[in-house]
Amino acid sequence: MSKDKSAKIPTPQAVRGTQDMLGDFADRFAHVVDTFERVRRLYGYKRIEVPVIEPTAVFARSLGETTDVVSKEMYSFDDRGGESITLRPEFTAGIARAYITNGWQQFAPLKVATHGPLFRYERPQKGRYRQFHQLDAEVLGSDSPLADAELLVFADQLLKELGIAEGVTLTLNTLGDAASRDAWRAALVEHFEAHRGELSEDSLARLDKNPLRILDSKDPQDRPIADSAPDIDAFLTAEAQDFFGAVTSGLDAADVAWERNARLVRGLDYYRHTAFEFVTDRLGAQGTVLGGGRYDGLIEALGGPPTAAVGWAAGIERLAMLVADDVIDCRLDFVIAVEDDGQLKLAMKTLAALRNRGFASEIVASGSPRKRFDKAAKIPARALIAIGTRDGVSYTNMRGDSELTIVADQTIRAL
Ligand code: ATP
Ligand code: MG
Repeated sequence: MSKDKSAKIPTPQAVRGTQDMLGDFADRFAHVVDTFERVRRLYGYKRIEVPVIEPTAVFARSLGETTDVVSKEMYSFDDRGGESITLRPEFTAGIARAYITNGWQQFAPLKVATHGPLFRYERPQKGRYRQFHQLDAEVLGSDSPLADAELLVFADQLLKELGIAEGVTLTLNTLGDAASRDAWRAALVEHFEAHRGELSEDSLARLDKNPLRILDSKDPQDRPIADSAPDIDAFLTAEAQDFFGAVTSGLDAADVAWERNARLVRGLDYYRHTAFEFVTDRLGAQGTVLGGGRYDGLIEALGGPPTAAVGWAAGIERLAMLVADDVIDCRLDFVIAVEDDGQLKLAMKTLAALRNRGFASEIVASGSPRKRFDKAAKIPARALIAIGTRDGVSYTNMRGDSELTIVADQTIRAL
């Protein structure tokens, strides 16, 4: 480490892909998290916390070695003890690991929700960061399609309560059960093999390891071949069809609009049955705001018992960018201008009493007393209380809604 005290703190280049937040964006971010915390309670999801660091194997084994996240995006390093650890690039694998190590099978089906920072080594751009944040909801130990439907209704209500549901579409697909998926996979391989020469280099690599992923390739070179590939529908077993039917009728019953996207496969290898994304065209190329699906094979892949599970994650930054300006009300209830230092004690008492009664309040008591009223008037607040002396008497001078005038009068009289 440098001993040079004059050495500057790293320039923004060193924190590329991370961001500092203050003011409007920080308020939007907090609004998304607060809304999520409220809505997840309505659906009976328990709060869960999992570590930011995990053994690298947790992600390497669960995400599949061929996914972009594992092959290119993980922050992995050997710690001082020589163990390879990774900063979590997603929540699901860590939650699945916790389910196994803590024996949470006893609580199945377990509905959990969390949020926090994640790390991916990506090319930074609008809506895409190296440290970003997600909301996350999972149901572990349920093989019922009602769990999938409930999760989606939860997601839909969250977006509605954030006021961003308009222009955001739920796109849905099924990847079937193991038998359907295997049959579909074979047909896809046959189709892609026939077009080997036209595929991008990335997709050629996927062809051997995870051909489904070619379907959602963003490379324009792959699109015609991906678009002409067979849908899963012809390969779905009766059970898989019933499962998908139960999910969609659950959505219809709850009045959640959805669209079928037969090309949607999601990035992860262990998905089964339901796969979904809420997408918008308001964020340019970074259009997916929430995504998830059923991952019945994951917990077993991590060495646990066979456990059916389903979940979703949503990027907080992307949601925060969509929240309308007028939704964010960071105004205080009261601002108090102390126009006479002789009344400071009364003003402080008033401030404490208002805050105790649950009103967000601030005080302006420094600088030239004559300028304090104007200074206070510039602070966004629903009402202003001026405390000074006129003929030796304290007075309040309210601006703002009449309800708050009554509150202020009551508060000051009770002191
Ligand atoms: P994308 O296709 O945009 O890379 P993804 O499939 O990698 O998304 P998931 O792993 O499903 O994304 O994560 C769920 C959500 O997290 C995304 O829909 C998005 O809102 C958000 N997200 C993912 N990566 C980033 C990132 N680097 N910066 C900001 N938000 C992100
Ligand atoms: Mg990605």
